[in-house]
Amino acid sequence: TAEPAAEALQHVDVARLLPLPSAESDKYRRGVVGVVAGSARYPGAAVLAVAGALRGGAGAVRYVGPAADAVLARFPETLVHAGPPHRAGRVQAWVIGPGLGDEADAMEDVLAAEAPVLVDADGLRFLTPERVRARTAGTLLTPHAGEAAALLGGDRAAVEAGRWRAVRELAAAFGATVLLKGSTTLVADAASPVRVNPTGTGWLATAGSGDVLSGLTGSLLAAGLPARDAAAAGAYLHGLAARFAAGPDGAPVTATQVAGRLAAAWRDVGR
Ligand code: AMP
Ligand code: MG
Repeated sequence: TAEPAAEALQHVDVARLLPLPSAESDKYRRGVVGVVAGSARYPGAAVLAVAGALRGGAGAVRYVGPAADAVLARFPETLVHAGPPHRAGRVQAWVIGPGLGDEADAMEDVLAAEAPVLVDADGLRFLTPERVRARTAGTLLTPHAGEAAALLGGDRAAVEAGRWRAVRELAAAFGATVLLKGSTTLVADAASPVRVNPTGTGWLATAGSGDVLSGLTGSLLAAGLPARDAAAAGAYLHGLAARFAAGPDGAPVTATQVAGRLAAAWRDVGR
């Protein structure tokens, strides 16, 4: 029988994906996620990506970049590293891109890692299909429509008008898993039906919310989820957390508030 072309995510699907600790768990086995984000201009992106990563199920978060002071002031549980990513110590998955600005130095270092890599935001500017295809471990790209258009060499309106086609084209061109953000978030890879996330809300269209999603999803990757599952569970929890933050009648939310409700979303799904 033919594979369905699409599947809508539901609570039960996501509940099955969430990593749970066991008696044998230690922080390394639960996974270490490395976050390369932030710059002198955008230190907050680093803080928000780490905020997401700390709630995503990995056992530890390593931050690599220039915003370590800001990150530690907010999250003293973060491990920080000032040198190149490959010297940071054990990392089971990397997140690179939020608030990087023009800082491309760490990019090749991270792409060369034999661990899954999530590339978001400014990090997407430094990618070519050839470089991504040459990686040995999985790669997950998380563009919004404008970033997707830049990757495809087209314009944003064309992506908006054909989101399903765009997400599939990107997955095929880069040999990667792609999470296309927007009013309905889509997840595609070369082999499987496109997944559609139903939990989003327009309140998520606020500065920094994408950075929280990157950290969260990277943490799920570090915990051992395949890219397609990490993307699906990340988008689902992120949307649910935003709904909880917005409340039953809806109200503007901040990215910080969304991160703060991720544990509530996790509990809700796991129930
Ligand atoms: P970014 O574009 O990186 O700031 O990320 C924005 C986040 O908000 C992503 O998770 C999007 O999927 C989400 N988002 C943006 N606009 C909407 C919308 N109209 N409805 C639902 N979610 C949205
Ligand atoms: Mg973004």
